[in-house]
Amino acid sequence: MRGIFDDGERERERGGNFSSRPWTIFILTLPISITSHHITHAIPRSSIHADPAPDKAALAAAAASLPGPVPGVLPQAQGGPPVLYCGLTAGAAFGASAYLLLRGPGRGNVLIDSPRFDKGLAAHILAHGPVDFMFLTHRDDVADHAAWAGALACPRIIHAKEANPEQGTDACEVLLDGAGPWSLPDGDADIELFLQPGHTEASVMLHHAPSRSLFPGDVIAFTGSGAGPLGDGPWTVEPPAGPDGTPGLVVHRAYTWFSIPTLLDSLEAGVVGRDWLHLLPGHGRMGSFKSGDARDAALREVIGRERANDAAGAPARSPFF
Ligand SMILES: [Zn+2]
Repeated sequence: MRGIFDDGERERERGGNFSSRPWTIFILTLPISITSHHITHAIPRSSIHADPAPDKAALAAAAASLPGPVPGVLPQAQGGPPVLYCGLTAGAAFGASAYLLLRGPGRGNVLIDSPRFDKGLAAHILAHGPVDFMFLTHRDDVADHAAWAGALACPRIIHAKEANPEQGTDACEVLLDGAGPWSLPDGDADIELFLQPGHTEASVMLHHAPSRSLFPGDVIAFTGSGAGPLGDGPWTVEPPAGPDGTPGLVVHRAYTWFSIPTLLDSLEAGVVGRDWLHLLPGHGRMGSFKSGDARDAALREVIGRERANDAAGAPARSPFF
């Protein structure tokens, strides 16, 4: 499976993570304190390569396996995995992960955020059945949304405050308005969309109740780096997160465009106590909590930790841009 990921994915496989570890590198003669997320964008894509080069047969086999199952995210009532990882992350989406949610008999599937557009991947996605909607969590991870909407013949959903002409998202067929929560336009109750402002002004999470899966966009992620999606795990996270590096949850303070205090308030009000176990984030590893108590302990830990950072004067949004 490895080797087909694009530059952003490879960078994370090397140990970089969207948020977790500051690196100091030198570009030309300028010393820049930077994270691996910046590296993905700052260095020409052609300069990042697999070493040794993967063989073509392995690449073809890996591409044929996408979208692929997410280990540990199992259905409650179906016979197969309800969440598939799309791979082929897009530089235009900052290397964000995209997912295909299989909703089960009688319902079309949902593509969550945008992989890099690829006709082969589109065919593989459609082999799992029609896609009823493409849901975009927020403005960062929209990438090739228009190409996907055309290839899959599905309407796109994004919050109106995240839509803009520069990215073409003002043409999305469904613009969420106000504070929600919202169901999908088909009215089915298996999915709830709910506002989680903070990372951006109007980030929206998707909660799929039957699989107890949460798609948080870039609002929260697991700590740690190392193995990326579909890597070696571990897939189960034991709370509480600790300063010693015990896996837990993080918020991307360095990549928060709106407000960390707002983000933390939103998490406390809308995510703590919600019935989910599996976290499928835009960046970093996927994973599952063993119980709702474990989930809420990790959430309360990160909320408390970051409120303490706020009190100590940490910047409320990204200092980089
Ligand atoms: Zn983002």
